[in-house]
Amino acid sequence: MMAIRVQKYGGTSVADIDRINRVADRVSKAYDEGDKVVVVLSAMAGVTDSLISLARKAAPKPDTRELDVLLATGEQTTAALLAMILTSRGYMAKSFLGFQAGIRTDKTSGKARILDIDGKNILNALHAGYIAVVAGFQGADEDGDITTLGRGGSDTSAVAIASSLKADVCEIFTDVDGVYTTDPRICDKARKIKRITYEEMLEMAILGAKVLQIRSVEFAKKYNVPVHVRSSFNEEEGTMVVNETADMESVVVSGITCDMNEARITLKNVPDQPGTSAKIFTPLAEAEICVDMIIQNTQSNGDTDLTFTVTKDDFAKAREITERVAKEIGSPEVVTATDIAKVSVIGLGMKSHSGVAAAMFQALANENINIRLISTSEIRISCVIQAKYAELAVRTLHTAFGLDQEPK
Ligand code: ADP
Ligand code: ASP
Ligand code: MG
Repeated sequence: MMAIRVQKYGGTSVADIDRINRVADRVSKAYDEGDKVVVVLSAMAGVTDSLISLARKAAPKPDTRELDVLLATGEQTTAALLAMILTSRGYMAKSFLGFQAGIRTDKTSGKARILDIDGKNILNALHAGYIAVVAGFQGADEDGDITTLGRGGSDTSAVAIASSLKADVCEIFTDVDGVYTTDPRICDKARKIKRITYEEMLEMAILGAKVLQIRSVEFAKKYNVPVHVRSSFNEEEGTMVVNETADMESVVVSGITCDMNEARITLKNVPDQPGTSAKIFTPLAEAEICVDMIIQNTQSNGDTDLTFTVTKDDFAKAREITERVAKEIGSPEVVTATDIAKVSVIGLGMKSHSGVAAAMFQALANENINIRLISTSEIRISCVIQAKYAELAVRTLHTAFGLDQEPK
């Protein structure tokens, strides 16, 4: 039976013409097998970063509309190149920019959300026998302005297109063989996970495993899109992201993540009275800054120290706002740190097991790693530590929770 297959290739997989030729091999093979193929591409590795630095040279605070126009060119390039290669090999192939693929987003430049997809152009092309090559990471808002979907956003383009076309599978081709128990670049004992639930994958993405963009997993979970994360450099089966089933590996901890992208802000000696937290966090929310962890320590004299974390991207703005608020509410000092890392352990099995937090703290203590902040949910525990211990912490926790070996 003819299936619809969405294949997404990340930056390293399309890094040069040689690699795009290899992508063309794989795409044409799927087409020759009789499938209808939609390819979603990232920009060549490093191109989005270079475009961002070009923009910063052009203007200290680049206009956000124009920045999106610029960043979208990275994916425009690879989509056109792949379509050209396929056409030159005698295949019918056509590139589509985000707006041509019917991807409608809200107006948040730089991290727009997909509102809906009008798949008619792509479907028409598929029915006419074309391979559809879509530029990832981009869409257009209601005024027709080009938007981009946030770093790593091509994953979300692919899953959203797969969902709107009711594709049989969304294959995410990347530079690792699948989703691992932790980042294989940090821990050489990391193991490939054969199947992972949407829920665990979402936590892993939120907590720093960049193998899938957070929103792509939210999308896949909401619309039940079968996602297969696999290597673009070999034929091995990768990782299926799926709903929980009874026969899944019954491990307590399924993965470890590390996020180096947060910064810490502490307001010292905040008056301990109603309304103070609202005064601090309302202006941050108004500036669209997402606050992650929040911790308050009450001193014996009735003051409290209030600490929270934000992403490094939001740090400068958050510090500016916090320093202003500190003066208003009578906090004498704002202390900040950017050399922090958040390490997390994740697993559905934690719902029914106690002692995971204690085991995590003990493992870190054994390596003399000091924990600065802690937060927990039903299926994860996160600790903020000094950045220089991040890799050691990941490896230590990987061993401590038995992830170095295959589960029995
Ligand atoms: P692409 O350019 O294909 O989108 P990314 O660089 O965005 O690829 O994501 C793949 C990278 O994610 C891997 O190279 C790996 O270093 C990193 N990564 C972090 N955590 C994990 C994990 N748990 N499993 C697999 N890869 C991970
Ligand atoms: N090129 C974009 C980025 O580097 C989007 C993507 O690769 O998914 O973030
Ligand atoms: Mg990516």
